[in-house]
Amino acid sequence: MSQPVILSSPVDPVLAARFEELVVKYAKLRPQESLVSLLQAFEYAALHHTGQTRSSGESYMAHPLEVAHILCDMSMDLVCLETGLLHDTVEDTVVTVEDVRKRFGNDVARCVDGVTKLAKLNFYSREERQAESVRKMLLAMVNDIRVVMVKLADRLHNMRTMGSLSRERQERISQETLEIYAPIAHRLGMGKMRSELEDLGFRHLDPAAFAEVNEAIESRRKVTGDALEEIRHAVELKLARENIPARIEARLKRPFSVYQKLKRQKISIEQVYDLLAIRIVTDCVKNCYGALGTIHGEWTPIPGRIKDFIAIPRPNLYQSLHTSVIGPGGQAFEVQIRTEEMHRIAEEGIAAHWKYKEGTKGAQSDEQQVAWLRQLVEWQQDVHDPGEFMSTLKVDLYPEEVYSFTPRGKVIILPRGASPVDFAYAIHSDVGHLCVGAKVNGRIVPLKYELKNGDVVDILTQQGHVPSKDWLNFVKTSKARNRIKHVVNTTERAKAVEIGEKHLEKEARRLGVQWKKIPKEHLEKVAHDYGFGKMEDLHAALGYGKFSPRQVLLQLAPEQVAAAEALEVAPAASPAVPPSNVNDKDLILKVRGVDDIMVYRAKCCNPIRGESIVGYITRGKGVAVHSVNCTNVQNLMYEVERKIEVEWAKAVTESFLVKLVIYTDDRPGMLNQLTSALFNEGTNIRTLEAQPDASRSDGSALVNVAIDVKDKKQLERIVSSLRRISGVRDVERSQSST
Ligand code: MN
Repeated sequence: MSQPVILSSPVDPVLAARFEELVVKYAKLRPQESLVSLLQAFEYAALHHTGQTRSSGESYMAHPLEVAHILCDMSMDLVCLETGLLHDTVEDTVVTVEDVRKRFGNDVARCVDGVTKLAKLNFYSREERQAESVRKMLLAMVNDIRVVMVKLADRLHNMRTMGSLSRERQERISQETLEIYAPIAHRLGMGKMRSELEDLGFRHLDPAAFAEVNEAIESRRKVTGDALEEIRHAVELKLARENIPARIEARLKRPFSVYQKLKRQKISIEQVYDLLAIRIVTDCVKNCYGALGTIHGEWTPIPGRIKDFIAIPRPNLYQSLHTSVIGPGGQAFEVQIRTEEMHRIAEEGIAAHWKYKEGTKGAQSDEQQVAWLRQLVEWQQDVHDPGEFMSTLKVDLYPEEVYSFTPRGKVIILPRGASPVDFAYAIHSDVGHLCVGAKVNGRIVPLKYELKNGDVVDILTQQGHVPSKDWLNFVKTSKARNRIKHVVNTTERAKAVEIGEKHLEKEARRLGVQWKKIPKEHLEKVAHDYGFGKMEDLHAALGYGKFSPRQVLLQLAPEQVAAAEALEVAPAASPAVPPSNVNDKDLILKVRGVDDIMVYRAKCCNPIRGESIVGYITRGKGVAVHSVNCTNVQNLMYEVERKIEVEWAKAVTESFLVKLVIYTDDRPGMLNQLTSALFNEGTNIRTLEAQPDASRSDGSALVNVAIDVKDKKQLERIVSSLRRISGVRDVERSQSST
């Protein structure tokens, strides 16, 4: 039952008439559905595109309307058609995705958003190998298959109407169509869409070659036209005699596939023996093979040209029997035989399947559609068909991957959750080492930022910079992890060598060992006794605290050490670090059971009294005390033997410096409220710094504040009173030492 179209606002009568045709067409397709929302989508889009024109001079709204027509011809659903009508509103008008959501619901909003995001990607590239990554990325980004349908329909209409664009744009868009969109249509089994995209792309990319091929096909049509009709008629008669119901189409090969064949096989058009083709569409598989027998009984088949894609479907689910035979007058022609169902899938691909499912089960959830797409893709990986199916492209929908770009448009594929540091190392180890910052889509982001699909990443480097150990907390690629660890270990070893050497000399001086007089060979022998090839390795081991300098000196100069120790009133085991390093601040912490060891609060987590803490024996700097929750120390604990228990010493009056980051709305009076809240809690503000939040664009601000805090309880009070201030979005304890 067709519903009357009543437009509530004045719209160009030509557009209104064309929209009415859409309504009639869709009503025929699904008579039960209400078309109110379709009408609203049309009016809404027409209203917002008012005054905009296409480069051809016609009203802009004609484009989305035709896209909706294409989608309707593909039997897509209302969400898809509405998305088609609205697909350029967010990109080209003041409308936002939120506006679309409010009026047209979540599904349409999600699809419009998806199409808009794809439009923003500039993935034009001359590099063939990159085209594959881009196709993968495009499919990976899509969470609703209808986004792909709308995008393909959009591209098809643009290709059909690109005549008034500049040559340069025609070429660019055509190349993109041939490299990205036609292969996607192919992969989704949408034969009709693919053919039209390919022929239009070919025509506009290389008009001269297209004209040449087309002319050759046309002149062959003149010569063979009658023969083709004759063959068609003969086939019809023979199949009728065998009682095989069939619909028979006679056709010539498409320009783009002829062109590819000529190019690939370096032959002339006379040698393309499947230029003429007959397609037999019958009712069942049995009759497909029956028809094949009939054809072969009548005409001689060309050896090696028989292909059974019914028994072994192509990866994109295409099914047919193919053969080539020598027809009347020695004219070769190709025959394709398939059922109606196979024909529909060959023409429409995923769209056919989608429709079928919808018919049996009602509206499909998006999840199921995407699952089907993934299944298709998995199947493609299993099926291996070399030979002419060279354009079969391996596609993966890796939800665990992120596709990002260099500023010059190169695709960098990283695991999900990867950071700009991973990106930098993926480009080159040196870029990784020298990385000091990153811009994503033109904005500075923290180095631990999680990259998203389509991000354009610009790595900022500085000569002489070395990677930070903290990076190990967030990098996701093993390349980045290994490179960082390597540098960190090398630097730490160099430090350990230096420290070990100093400790040894110091201890030698204390014990009166005449260091300079010990022969070099003797030194090396002792190093060797300890299992090291070089003195340097022994120094490193001393620096790491594996041996005490006294032990080593006992080996080097046993008599002198013994004599020196006899003179000492209270010989003490030499501490790993001289106790003179201990300062007042450190007395608030102690290592259980040990006194004279240097203890300090780690800068990364800056633990305060009341927090659970753990000690970590550093290389030459004493014991660093971390909060047990500190990510740094969790990362360090791979060397369990360096862990040590620590506790808070008996209370003295003390305060701890704590740094907080406060995320707020950027509004007047905010700082005043923050400082008075801190004042009310009786804390002392050391530094306070406010700045706009560079990682966001919504007018939020970051406030960095350093305060003196007595203990954990006081800190908790402070944080909760800060959070109560309206406009404060979050308060975080700063984890970095800077
Ligand atoms: Mn468009």
